[in-house]
Amino acid sequence: MLRVAGLCKRFGALKVLHGIDLDVHRGEVVVIIGPSGSGKSTLLNCLNFLEPYDEGEVHFDGVLVGYRLDDKGRKRPMSHRAMSELRSEMGMVFQSFNLFPHKTVLQNVIEGPRIVRRQRRKEAIALGQALLDKVGIGDKAHVYPANISGGQQQRAAIARALAMRPRAMLFDEPTSALDPELVGEVLDVMKTLAAEGMTMVVVTHEMGFAREVADRLIVMDHGRIIEVGSAQEIFASPTHPRTAEFLRKVL
Ligand code: ADP
Ligand code: MG
Repeated sequence: MLRVAGLCKRFGALKVLHGIDLDVHRGEVVVIIGPSGSGKSTLLNCLNFLEPYDEGEVHFDGVLVGYRLDDKGRKRPMSHRAMSELRSEMGMVFQSFNLFPHKTVLQNVIEGPRIVRRQRRKEAIALGQALLDKVGIGDKAHVYPANISGGQQQRAAIARALAMRPRAMLFDEPTSALDPELVGEVLDVMKTLAAEGMTMVVVTHEMGFAREVADRLIVMDHGRIIEVGSAQEIFASPTHPRTAEFLRKVL
């Protein structure tokens, strides 16, 4: 479903991704861990072209992300419209919940379907309410984000991403900004999605989640993938010394 080949990314003189190769299969849950600054967020942002990449390619369901090929086979920037459509099919959830503060929870959820998908109001509301019920905050539909907990806001953000009926979901440290007692409710929603077969790429420091849910664990360090395997294998016997060092700090 996602095919990343030779992905390189620089910020000015700073090279932060050094040739990432990664395939994510349909229905797979890939968890990415690694020290701060290792390039996890940048990789995730390149997958849906929130960050343009410099070299290599990202394919999503066979479509080259960020570019179209012209009639001579040269890479041209993808149209804005095609890009926003593609992006909406990779639901993204960030550490900061990024809800619109002046809209209610339900208004946040129906915004994308209404504007990007031109969905009729009644349909968008029905789907939105169903998704809020699914993530356990159906009773908060008409409340403003400031008046619900961080865990509820993050579940609203997940519902908002799901409202676009994405084919994959990308999570960038979705529980890192939450008080510890609110982490579980967000992870539970993510576990449900995983069990339903959603394709997911998850950057997290929640090692319990990785152990329980990840089909594959990926360890990044200094802009490279240094280890790939099951969480069980990697936690029990990391092959790379920097993995061992990182795990000593987080496990
Ligand atoms: P992680 O998510 O693993 O903590 P990031 O992908 O955020 O790592 O960052 C990787 C490196 O890229 C870091 O050195 C960071 O400082 C740098 N970086 C990230 N975003 C930018 C940016 N917009 N401009 C310049 N440097 C950036
Ligand atoms: Mg990050």
